[in-house]
Amino acid sequence: MLENHRPTSEMQALDAAHHMHPFTDGDALNAKGARIITSAKGVFVTDSEGEQILDGMAGLWCVNIGYGREEIAEAAARQIRQLSYYNTFFQTSHPPALELAAKLAELAPGDLNHVFFNGSGSDSNDTNMRMARHYWQLKGKPEKQIILSRWNAYHGSTMGSGSLSGMKAMHKQGGLPIPGIDWINQPDWWSEGGEMSPEEFGLARARELEAKILDLGEDKVAAFIAEPIQGAGGVIVPPETYWPEIQRIVDKYGILLIADEVICGFGRTGNWFGTQTFGLRPDIMTIAKGLSSGYVPIGGSLVSDKVAKVINAGGEFAHGYTYSAHPVAAAIALENLRIMQDEKIVEKMAADTAPYLKTKWEALTAHPMVGEAKIVGMMASIALTPDKAARAKFASKEGTVGLICRERCFANNLVMRHVGDRMVIAPPLVISRAEIDMLIERAIRSLDEGMEIAKARGLW
Ligand code: PMP
Repeated sequence: MLENHRPTSEMQALDAAHHMHPFTDGDALNAKGARIITSAKGVFVTDSEGEQILDGMAGLWCVNIGYGREEIAEAAARQIRQLSYYNTFFQTSHPPALELAAKLAELAPGDLNHVFFNGSGSDSNDTNMRMARHYWQLKGKPEKQIILSRWNAYHGSTMGSGSLSGMKAMHKQGGLPIPGIDWINQPDWWSEGGEMSPEEFGLARARELEAKILDLGEDKVAAFIAEPIQGAGGVIVPPETYWPEIQRIVDKYGILLIADEVICGFGRTGNWFGTQTFGLRPDIMTIAKGLSSGYVPIGGSLVSDKVAKVINAGGEFAHGYTYSAHPVAAAIALENLRIMQDEKIVEKMAADTAPYLKTKWEALTAHPMVGEAKIVGMMASIALTPDKAARAKFASKEGTVGLICRERCFANNLVMRHVGDRMVIAPPLVISRAEIDMLIERAIRSLDEGMEIAKARGLW
C-alpha cells in the first residue's frame, strides 16, 4: 500500500457509499469494490496496492501524450497564478483562448478556421446541433433541421448528444432521443456485411445516407454527423469505399458534414485528424479528449469559414457554457499541443510505433478466437468469434466472452476494453516498442485464459 491515502478497503467502502460511476451497474460494482487508481506516469497507471497497469486505452482514449508530464503541471500552475478564470461572454477574451483558437486553426485541415469552446465532447456535439440548425435558419431554410447520425455511433451522453448517439441501450433511459434526429446503419462489415464484399458493403451503407435524405426530403436535413472511425462502437474501420461515397452524397445534397473527432483527433489515426486519414472535408469538427490529453476537461467545435461567416453575421448566437474557453484548460491544451508538435509525437508514431503495433496486432488473427483484426494508427480492435470462416457469434449473450477477456486483461495488468465481443485498444501515442511488446504479450495471455473460461462455461 502507498502512504498518501487510506487503506484500499476503506477507499472502496467510501466509493461504494457515495460515488455513482458513469456507465456502471452500481450495485454490482459496489459489491466487489472499485480498483482504486492512485497515480500514473507515461503509459502506466498504478493502483492503491502498488500494481502497475499498462493502459491500453489511454484513459478513455484521451491521454495522447502519456500521463504525468511536468510541463503541463507547470503550465497549469502558471496560468492559475496569472488568470485562474474569466469568461468570454461579454466582449472579453484572454491570451490562452485566442492563442489556442489560432493554434487550432493552424492545425485543422481545410477552412476550419474558427473554434467555439466547450467543456467536453458531449456538450460540443450539443453546440454542433444547435449551430447547424441555426445556420440553416439564418440561411432562410428553417425547415432544414433534422440531424442524421448512425446506429452504434457514440457522440456523448447529454440529452442532445446522447440522442445523436445511436446506442439503443442509452435511448431506453431518460427520455431519449429528442426529436429531429434520424439514424442510418453503420459500416460494420464483420457483423453486418453478410455475403457482400467489404467494398460492396461500404458502398451500400453509404448509400443509405442518400436514401434517407431522399426519404425525408433534402429540404428537411441539416447535417450528417459521424466519427471517422467509430470508437466506443468497437473501433469499426469502414471499408475503403465508404467515406468517398459519403462525401459525394453530402456535397450533392448540400448537407453539412459534422466529423466527430473526439477520439480520432490529435494524432490517433496517424494524422492530426481522422478526416485527413480518410480524405473528408467536414464543415464542423467535434474535438475534446486529445486536445488536452485528458489533463483537464475541454472540448471544442471547429467551424469552417462557410458556417462561421453565417453564424457571426446572424446576431447573437444564444449559446455557451461558463467554462467555454476556460483559461486554465486552454493553457493546458496549448502546452499539450506544443509538446505534440515539438516532440513530433504524431509523425514519430505514424512512422515507427504504429506500423510496429500493426504487424503485431494483425498477427493476433492467428489466435483461435480472433476473427478480424483492424487497426489505424493507434486505435485497433479484434473480433472474437467461435468460427472465423462463418464470422459467427457466440451462443452466449453478446458481450459475455468480451467481458470475460476484459476481466482477464485487467487481472493481467492490461487495460483493454470490450465492446460486445470486440476487444479494443487505443494506447497513448507515446507508447514505445517495448511497451507494445508487453501489451501484446499480456493480450495474448488474457485471450488464452478467456478462451479457456469460455470453453469451461460452455460458451464456445
Ligand atoms: N464523441 C465521441 C466520438 C466520443 O468518443 C466521446 C466520448 N467517448 C464523446 C463524443 C463524448 O465526449 P465526453 O465524454 O467528453 O462528453
